[in-house]
Amino acid sequence: MAGKVQAPKGTFDVLPEGAGPRLRLQHAAEELLGRWGYDYVETPIFEDTELFARGVGETTDIVQKEMFTFDDQGGRSITLRPEGTAPVARAYIEHGMHKRPQPVKLWYWGPFFRYEAPQAGRYRQFNQVGVEAIGTASPSIDAEVIGLLADLLSGTRGLRLRISSIGTPETRREYSDELREHLRAHEDQLSDDVRARLDANPLRAFDSDHAGTQAVMRDAPRLLDRLGDEDEEHFAQVRALLDAMEIAYEVDGTLVRGLDYYTRTVFEFTSDALGAQSGVGGGGRYDLLIEQLGGPATPGIGWAAGIERILLASEAEDAGERLDVYVAHSDDPLTAIYVASRLHRRGKSAQLEHAGRSIKGQMKQADRLGARVVVIVEDGKLAVRNMATGEQQEARDRDDAIALAEAVA
Ligand code: AMP
Repeated sequence: MAGKVQAPKGTFDVLPEGAGPRLRLQHAAEELLGRWGYDYVETPIFEDTELFARGVGETTDIVQKEMFTFDDQGGRSITLRPEGTAPVARAYIEHGMHKRPQPVKLWYWGPFFRYEAPQAGRYRQFNQVGVEAIGTASPSIDAEVIGLLADLLSGTRGLRLRISSIGTPETRREYSDELREHLRAHEDQLSDDVRARLDANPLRAFDSDHAGTQAVMRDAPRLLDRLGDEDEEHFAQVRALLDAMEIAYEVDGTLVRGLDYYTRTVFEFTSDALGAQSGVGGGGRYDLLIEQLGGPATPGIGWAAGIERILLASEAEDAGERLDVYVAHSDDPLTAIYVASRLHRRGKSAQLEHAGRSIKGQMKQADRLGARVVVIVEDGKLAVRNMATGEQQEARDRDDAIALAEAVA
């Protein structure tokens, strides 16, 4: 291979020094979601392309421009999953989960793929944590999943929550016609992109960062003012439930999400601490998706949050894990590995010297690792040093050294 070996554009390595906060976030998610009764699931990294075309929607940016799609050796069109809801909905249908007690509450964590222009906080392979609660249209589940995400993001700087309701496809169709009229009346002020998609998806004009388009959108009719009675009542209940949970939010009638399957409640958490890519996590209700994918008519709601963005916007400093015991030795690996392995069995963290440094060099290494205790094995003798006080004790034998180290660490 010519030239330097590099990770592909838009991808990154997680290096040891960046791994701690990521693993802690995963544990925090597992604990939080478990306490609320969400079960962990995994679906394949790739799916039949058809699933996303049908599930996410043909007119979305994701399906039109951002998917990593290829034919496998058997001639099937395969796509690296760009999002998690359609795969989980597929699994729900495929495994007959509608026969289980409803709602079925699931969570996932893993890599997703979108062919986007990479920038700070935007990658071609990124990780998401997400939940799906399938099988009930009750507004209380909307509030629950939003509350969960608020909890998970509680350590995020500059966090804001916006919510809205986008009603049913019929309401949206009528509204789209009305909006299209409005956009047509101001066509000369719109960006080329918005004008090109005026027929297919006029709602996307709300997402535009083009100044002219934004000016036109300021006076545009709002979907929120056009909801049917039942949808309006559903949204009022979601708001009351969020109030009862004391979760702060803004109602934002311009909130549209880049996936076609949403109905009723939509929401997004952003962080002011992030740059242009300020979305930390979001989701919404998808009452028609399961049926659209060939399952029984089943309502559902879910969200996904970007792990890398959560970590970027996180308040927590990485304190790092401390080491209980470092086992230093001058050429006695048998004793050193015995001491280290016994300490592990007793639940301590322990490391031993592998690099053949002098005892002095090993003491420095122990210090770099933040070891509380060093067991020194030198010339057939054992000693245990408390690194905080500098106090050093002789040990009678290896088991005595283990007991002394355990008492201090
Ligand atoms: P979405 O599935 O588009 O609703 O995205 C949910 C969350 O995933 C966003 O709020 C981001 O935090 C994260 N996300 C989406 N796309 C990317 C990307 N290309 N790179 C990094 N994070 C992303």
